[in-house]
Amino acid sequence: MRTIVQKYGGTSVGSVELIQRVAQKVAAVRERGDRIAVVVSAMGDSTDRLVDLAAGISREPNPREMDVLLSTGEQVSIALLAMALCERGVPARSFTGSQIRVRTTNIHRRARITDVETKRLRETIDAGIVPVVAGFQGIDDDGDITTIGRGGSDTSAVALAVALKADECQILTDVDGVYTTDPRMVPEARLLKRISFEEMLELAGQGSRVLHLRSVEFAAKYNVPLRVLSSFRPGEGTLICKEDPHVEAPLISGIAFNRDEAQLTIAGLPDTPDCVARVLKPISAANIEVDMIVLATARDGFKDLSFTVHRDDFLEAQRHARHVTSQFSGATLTADDKVAKLAVVGVGMRSHAGVATQLFESLARQGVKAQLISTSEIKISVLVPEAVLESCIRCLHKDLRLA
Ligand code: ASP
Ligand code: MG
Repeated sequence: MRTIVQKYGGTSVGSVELIQRVAQKVAAVRERGDRIAVVVSAMGDSTDRLVDLAAGISREPNPREMDVLLSTGEQVSIALLAMALCERGVPARSFTGSQIRVRTTNIHRRARITDVETKRLRETIDAGIVPVVAGFQGIDDDGDITTIGRGGSDTSAVALAVALKADECQILTDVDGVYTTDPRMVPEARLLKRISFEEMLELAGQGSRVLHLRSVEFAAKYNVPLRVLSSFRPGEGTLICKEDPHVEAPLISGIAFNRDEAQLTIAGLPDTPDCVARVLKPISAANIEVDMIVLATARDGFKDLSFTVHRDDFLEAQRHARHVTSQFSGATLTADDKVAKLAVVGVGMRSHAGVATQLFESLARQGVKAQLISTSEIKISVLVPEAVLESCIRCLHKDLRLA
């Protein structure tokens, strides 16, 4: 008998009819003889609507009260799904994060799950009752309600799967699984049957929005197989699991992209050991995350430093960068927020040379100049002008034979 945790996202529980369909799917798992716990998100865009309500009252709502507010969305969907299951003759019971004791840190809106108590969950499952658990929420040490970041229900589901030592954590959503790239952009994109945790982590970190990044980190750390599949259409979806050493991995698994990038470059920095630290310090002090960092030696021993930040942080980062630039005589700042990043990911790159050459030859044929490049063992990311992002990805998908 397998133990499965299934998570249904907001679109899958967006209406009463859809909740009834979810109940039917959960019932089917039980009829197969599997043990199941279910995690749900709030209905449709109801979390956005809660955010809007708060925005009507306060420009900077109190984070603790925000969590009390935001956590109500999931409380609605767990109750309705439990009712729908009972109506079908499937015993079910809803649980909020605090009823289960999903313990988190106390940073409201961005809390991290530290522990999930399993006693009540196990008792419920053992009694033949389906636990329906609210995603996205937990409690801190004071017993206050916390939320774990937008899109966090995926992570709640994996945390539950880890705690229950489940055989698989299934994320049921509005896409069929993980594709070689976004099929809305490239119609030839192919559904991946299987992908390693490592590759999925890179894809999620580089802009693929199929899964909450933390959920993949959690699943990888505790080695819980994760499956993304459609809650609307039949299909096996994509299995995300440990790399199988007996199966030759494809050279490249996918191309992710992110439009929310901005680039800052300071040219003419003195070649001193502390110059990079001096530039980045005020940026990190302002809590701005820096992504790519490239230091290049210019002529006459001067250095050029380029880095990228999230586009939302662009103006603030630019302000800090302008200020530090003025402290170095002769240094100049250029800033560009019309950039986007694409990333080619594949574990096969580890043992095969030449992927970078193929990638840059393809860009060259399109007349595209890379603005920044960074690599890891299994990833090459390139910053390009936003205007050419789509055409770059279409050509790369073809030239790297992903279709
Ligand atoms: N309801 C929350 C959100 O909209 C959590 C989730 O859907 O995963 O962000
Ligand atoms: Mg989601």
